[in-house]
Amino acid sequence: MTTLPTPRGKLTESRNLNDLTWLRVGGPADFLFQPADIADLQTFMRDLLADISVFPMGVGSNLIVRDGGLRAVVIRLGRGFNAISVEGNTVTAGAAALDAHVARKAADEGVDLTFLRTIPGSIGGAVRMNAGCYGSYTADVLRKATIVTRQGDVVDLTPEDLNFRYRQSDLPAGAVLISATFEGPSGDPEELHARMSAQLQKRDESQPTKDRSAGSTFRNPAGFSSTGRADDVHDLKAWKVIDDAGMRGATLGGAQMSEKHSNFLINTGDASAADLEGLGEEVRKKVYETSGITLEWEIMRVGDPLTE
Ligand SMILES: Cc1cc2nc3c(=O)[nH]c(=O)nc-3n(C[C@H](O)[C@H](O)[C@H](O)COP(=O)(O)OP(=O)(O)OC[C@H]3O[C@@H](n4cnc5c(N)ncnc54)[C@H](O)[C@@H]3O)c2cc1C
Repeated sequence: MTTLPTPRGKLTESRNLNDLTWLRVGGPADFLFQPADIADLQTFMRDLLADISVFPMGVGSNLIVRDGGLRAVVIRLGRGFNAISVEGNTVTAGAAALDAHVARKAADEGVDLTFLRTIPGSIGGAVRMNAGCYGSYTADVLRKATIVTRQGDVVDLTPEDLNFRYRQSDLPAGAVLISATFEGPSGDPEELHARMSAQLQKRDESQPTKDRSAGSTFRNPAGFSSTGRADDVHDLKAWKVIDDAGMRGATLGGAQMSEKHSNFLINTGDASAADLEGLGEEVRKKVYETSGITLEWEIMRVGDPLTE
């Protein structure tokens, strides 16, 4: 029987994670901890036995949690970690703030973080994943990230510390991001809001935004960088090689490669994590057989499969 510190926030034993992920799959975490505030998180981390794993989770828009769940304390930030403030061109947001809210609030104040508007994650997930679209990435605008370390200390990290790469950054093991500071270019609020509306519409036209997905399933196969520089070419699209392998619309149980965008893996209703991951692996195999390309997962897969 594991004994955990008693926090002021909410600690739930054996909590299913399926309703906390966009794909609506995932078995139980040993514990789910929703800290009340920074001090509560610090004390909990400090007092938690060092051999107990911690998994910080955002809003689960880039995750397949396997059906057997996670042998860890999952930490999910909520109220107390979602404040957004704007001063000049500097925007500071709590890690639980949604990217879309941050983009809108920044635009209201004439700061261009519009690329965040259509990404359905939280700021913690955006920093960890170096989220980006339309040629802009979190790495371009991040100035500082603040974490609580596994030992319970509050530490500021620079962009260099985070070592941003395509859809990736480095955090100390077990650390929880609690806030981030960005600096965006100036823009006219009306123009920024109009641009975000256009981007939302573009997404709805080209991606299955109403389905349960976790965004792009695989990385595009070639030539990426996290900088969005003009010389960053990415000619070969994952959806194209998936189409070439005949896997658009392919199904396994309740999982499907979307007919609308073949690099989107969707839960059509009753998919298990095993269906989704299994279909993804089937796609990787078929793509390798037809084009010799090894697709790399962009969706993070965590936890244990179910054992019989
Ligand atoms: C329809 C759709 C469209 C998408 N389009 C895009 C896109 O255009 N561009 C793009 O980049 N992504 C896209 N995504 C993927 C996803 O939204 C991003 O990766 C997002 O940044 C994930 O944020 P999250 O809060 O959901 O993180 P989660 O999925 O919950 O977690 C992702 C990773 O971040 C870590 N993490 C989350 N919060 C914290 C924290 N507070 N401290 C430490 N680590 C943390 C987790 O441990 C995990 O490793 C899309 C997803 C969907 C469903």
